[in-house]
Amino acid sequence: MVDVVAFMGGTFDPIHNGHLRTALEIRQLLGNDEIRLIPCHVPVHRGLPGSTSEQRLQMAELAVAEEPGLVVDDRELISPQANYSIHTLQSLRSQIGEQTSLCMVMGMDSYLTLPSWHRWQEFLDYAHLLVVQRPGWKFSNGDPMQSWTEQHLVDDIDLIRKRPCGHVLLYQLTPLGISATQVRDLVGANQSPRYLIPDPVWNYIREQGLYRNN
Ligand code: ATP
Repeated sequence: MVDVVAFMGGTFDPIHNGHLRTALEIRQLLGNDEIRLIPCHVPVHRGLPGSTSEQRLQMAELAVAEEPGLVVDDRELISPQANYSIHTLQSLRSQIGEQTSLCMVMGMDSYLTLPSWHRWQEFLDYAHLLVVQRPGWKFSNGDPMQSWTEQHLVDDIDLIRKRPCGHVLLYQLTPLGISATQVRDLVGANQSPRYLIPDPVWNYIREQGLYRNN
């Protein structure tokens, strides 16, 4: 059987246990070898992050160092062009060929903003979307995303594995209401974010003096 390629993009400013646990549970759900974490260079949909691209990359690498099922992929950081997700999807698809299943993993909060993403309606031509429920985020009444979702929704993970692209799967994992904003705010308030992020990431934040002026 051909392995599924799955990735989770994000700012990872900083990477936290919500990202890591989500990626690990998705890996187990798909039964594949690894999930790629792809930090974005210049966030297209949000303000500037509180750390440099290099620091976010280093924190992500520290976070997965002891977990062989998670790998950091720096393709967006080394790309000279503005990195829209559509380009990442095209780049991954050209690497893995037409037949392999490609899964883009995202939290419900990101999924709800999809209509503002560049060329988002083409995403399903390249990949499946695996959407992870996130505490506090759901469709609001009459959200057009809900009817778009229903047109593409499947609940059979085997379809996701067998077909290369084209479906949306909504999935409930262990709900962890952790956000990078919360971590930055805690550090800025001189409080500990311990157990929300891996210890090596917390050590790095202290060494580099990150997020103090949040
Ligand atoms: P911020 O608080 O700075 O907005 P964030 O915690 O949402 O950051 P991102 O790097 O923006 O982190 O998120 C990357 C991806 O991970 C997104 O698809 C997001 O929905 C998902 N994600 C983040 N935190 C969680 C969580 N606790 N549970 C599930 N998915 C999450």
